[in-house]
Amino acid sequence: EALEEARRFKEVAHRIEEAILDNSLELNFQTISSFEKNRITSLEVLSRLKDGKHNYINPEYFIHVAEINHTIIQLSRQMFEKTCRFAVDNNIFDRGINDMNINISPIQCQDKHLVQDLKKIAAKYGIPFERFHFEITESRLTDEKAVRETLTKLEENGAKIALDDFGTGYSNFHYLSELHPDIVKIDRGFTSKAITDKKEYYLLNQFSNMIHNLGLKLCIEGIETEDELQKMKLLKPDYCQGFYWGQPCLYDEFRKYFVDVKR
Ligand code: C2E
Ligand code: MG
Ligand code: MG
Repeated sequence: EALEEARRFKEVAHRIEEAILDNSLELNFQTISSFEKNRITSLEVLSRLKDGKHNYINPEYFIHVAEINHTIIQLSRQMFEKTCRFAVDNNIFDRGINDMNINISPIQCQDKHLVQDLKKIAAKYGIPFERFHFEITESRLTDEKAVRETLTKLEENGAKIALDDFGTGYSNFHYLSELHPDIVKIDRGFTSKAITDKKEYYLLNQFSNMIHNLGLKLCIEGIETEDELQKMKLLKPDYCQGFYWGQPCLYDEFRKYFVDVKR
């Protein structure tokens, strides 16, 4: 089994190298809805990579591999460049989309040039940096000081910060006070527990109040059904995200959502 794991790791690492060389990383987009505006206002960018048999690799796994061998830096640069091109080619900001949510890894924060590089790419496409929400998940591998410094720089340049996966082992109270996010995203594992378990719902309700009392915005992830949406609405989230609005997909597949959007 260990041998199989090592073989898989090597294969995935190889696919990452190839994707960096031949520019073949794919992007999916997932819609995020604003409660106040009662429409889709943001898109989260999710990277996709296929293995040698043309099957999609679990994103959590290839991101983990890319973090370990630090190829995440080049892979994410490709993701960001493709995001900007996509946004401009499809006039995304004229279709009611206010922001693009970009996941960044703590490993990227060790790259001293990260913020300058991102700014340069955004400027090349004429996209104001204010359009980006950077989502961060703390992990075991982290250099906290580098993360804090990078997030501060991103904010100084007008971007917003979202603390991702809140309620899991990684994103906890420590990071809430340490990383000064603008938005807190409730992990979908937490959401699904809160839907079935009264105590968990009570806990989530208290967290939501706390997040709002801190003046931060709340995004609830992992909403899959109408019933779940109704329950979560009671917590007055600022943003909602989940399969209820559709699976993450290529832009072409959800183009229909945007044709009616009024500015
Ligand atoms: P995340 O940032 O928390 O992204 C949300 C994940 O939840 C996505 O999984 C999405 O498909 C899934 N999801 C959204 N709504 C629902 C729902 O209603 N039900 C269920 N069951 N799942 C839902 P995905 O695409 O597999 O990505 C997994 C993780 O991989 C992401 O979690 C993110 O941490 C990471 N990731 C993906 N792309 C990138 C990237 O370009 N850079 C970095 N650093 N991380 C990335
Ligand atoms: Mg995210
Ligand atoms: Mg998340």
